[in-house]
Amino acid sequence: FRKKTPSVESLLKGILNQDQGALSQAITLIESTALKHQQQAKQIIEGCLPHANKSIRVGITGVPGVGKSTFIESFGKLLISKGKKVAVLTVDPSSSISGGSILGDKTRMEELVKEPNAFIRPSASGDTLGGVARKTRETIILCEAAGFDVILIETVGVGQSETAVHSMTDFFLLLKLAGAGDELQGIKRGIMEMADSIVINKADGDNLKAAKMAKNEFNRALHLYPAKESGWAPKTLLCSALKNEGIAEIWEVVSNYFETVKGNGYFQYKRKEQNKFWLMQTIESRLKSEFYANPSVKVELEKQLKAIDENKTTPFAAAEILLNLK
Ligand code: GDP
Repeated sequence: FRKKTPSVESLLKGILNQDQGALSQAITLIESTALKHQQQAKQIIEGCLPHANKSIRVGITGVPGVGKSTFIESFGKLLISKGKKVAVLTVDPSSSISGGSILGDKTRMEELVKEPNAFIRPSASGDTLGGVARKTRETIILCEAAGFDVILIETVGVGQSETAVHSMTDFFLLLKLAGAGDELQGIKRGIMEMADSIVINKADGDNLKAAKMAKNEFNRALHLYPAKESGWAPKTLLCSALKNEGIAEIWEVVSNYFETVKGNGYFQYKRKEQNKFWLMQTIESRLKSEFYANPSVKVELEKQLKAIDENKTTPFAAAEILLNLK
């Protein structure tokens, strides 16, 4: 027995009344591949847009095991104690590709889940990272319209998901561990460059000394990067998500960042740039999916691939034929 989905109007009204049930149901429409649901989702998003944009969006990344969910639990609880409403979304392309998920099983963030002012939604599934990212962006709009003022978007430090999350957040936090060997080995340069703050987690017990050393090393490395367009100098911090230490200091840094970038106009500028980026992305993905869905393209593509195999054409000539199909 499945309950009928409520109307667009009642879902929209529910979201604006900060009803989490309505919010969840509307997100399910966003995630659905059914055409009817997509049309309903579009109407809901449009209805939410005038009420969105009032949050701060924080991206959190780090390798599996670094302590992301433990951190979000502590950080989220602190924010709630300060009167914030916190939504936690995840971008986890592994859940789509392998069927399993690196993030997002139900037992994570056990305490935060119980808070009435917290909303936790695991990653949408999708064939591509682009698809997952689009759904997450639309979900952000709904969460904002539902009154959530801090949106935490978590992703794993593998693949391209950090770039996607960076392009939909205002502040990017990289969680790291102090470990054996060279701290700076094995992190992709691009990710460090995106970070507005590097937080060394598990700075507790026997780990504390190594964590302090790692902090110095990261600080030195950060100084080698050119100054950021935001006018913000990234900060390296220590914390123990498990023992709830250093969390308030991180919130202070995040708050300082928002003061800085709202003051100098970068906040508004970056959001506009992100919207332009997503406009282009949306066009690209729509053109691409429409192109490949065209039955004559499907037939001709097979032919042209075969022709290339047999050295009977060039990639450029083949592309020309395919792109000119109606
Ligand atoms: P995630 O995969 O990044 O989400 O990591 P989890 O939050 O699931 O944490 C992985 C493991 O590290 C768990 O066993 C946590 O209890 C542990 N952990 C997380 N934060 C800390 C911390 O600050 N100190 C210590 N000692 N352990 C931690």
